[in-house]
Amino acid sequence: MKKTRVYIKESDNLRASIATLFHDIGLEKVSGKKVFVKPNMLRTAQPDENVVTHPEIISETVSFLMEAGADVIVGDNPAPNKRCNELVVAEQCGFLEAAHGCFRNIGRYPRKVKRLGNILKEIYVSREIMDCDVLVSLPKFKSHQLTTMSIAIKNQFGIIPGGLKPYIHALFPKISDFSRVLLEIYNIRPPDLTIVDCINIIDATGKRFTPKKIIGGTNGHAIDYTCALMAGINPYRIPTLAIAKDENLFDPMAIEYHGEIEKIKGYSVPFGFPLRNSIVEFVARILYRIWLSGAPVIDSSLCSRCMSCENVCPKRAIRNQIIDYRKCIKCYCCLEVCPNQAIKTKFRL
Ligand code: SF4
Ligand code: SF4
Repeated sequence: MKKTRVYIKESDNLRASIATLFHDIGLEKVSGKKVFVKPNMLRTAQPDENVVTHPEIISETVSFLMEAGADVIVGDNPAPNKRCNELVVAEQCGFLEAAHGCFRNIGRYPRKVKRLGNILKEIYVSREIMDCDVLVSLPKFKSHQLTTMSIAIKNQFGIIPGGLKPYIHALFPKISDFSRVLLEIYNIRPPDLTIVDCINIIDATGKRFTPKKIIGGTNGHAIDYTCALMAGINPYRIPTLAIAKDENLFDPMAIEYHGEIEKIKGYSVPFGFPLRNSIVEFVARILYRIWLSGAPVIDSSLCSRCMSCENVCPKRAIRNQIIDYRKCIKCYCCLEVCPNQAIKTKFRL
């Protein structure tokens, strides 16, 4: 198997470390290219909560790319929020400022992608992701209840418009099935470079650590494997890695490390015990079912009949401001595109 390099660098001089990383993998010539930067914007969160990518890493990456002459877009699809859209979430996470004017609400225009051999035969992906020349992923180093850790492979779940993510969770409640879907989504558009934010992190028990590292490379599996070693766990507790190993998609012997793998002492991931997966799957199944009982509703008193929601709806479920709930897949693209915040989510049986 071809060698794949993983770089572990100090974050003290973040700008220099990021610039070196682009040079190390031969991606420094980006002048005139469309570069999409995808951080992890899970939900509204302050940078010191350590659950979203730190704005500093976004800021330094964007500055480097802009100086190199790239046409930069920054964006992510957070979980839908009935009180605010993506731009508000981005502002509260500190991403709007960090993006130096390059942030874009990518939840508005999904593009259908067909993958006939996959579990998901067709899926909607933000069009900006499909149209970019270079994709840079900036995941956060963190633990995750379903997938044990959420790093390089899982960060690509964010290329799916916000509301579709809970829908996919509900369609594939089993961890093994959901992990296969994650791999399929990763393979739709694998990043050209992934830089993991392992500067200030939090573990499954809420304990905080400051490893002050960034981990970079081109192969998401190799990066997840390295991060699992740093977290002190068996890497195959991450289900996507276990599947990749079983299917010969990944060989840890092919990783060439540049930098020291230092174990983060005391770091905890969700506790493993017999039947744990069944219990987590059962709880997730209920939570996502509850989530799916929310539906978009148009407030006609705020609606200016601009038709934006009709035009954006991937299932053509809106006609004359009336939503056909039999067609609606709850992607909430209509909610993101509405200029008057006339579309809200409401509980519907
Ligand atoms: S009406 Fe259309 S755009 Fe709105 S949530 Fe449903 S499927 Fe998505
Ligand atoms: S996008 Fe908003 S304002 Fe425009 S037609 Fe739809 S609900 Fe009305």
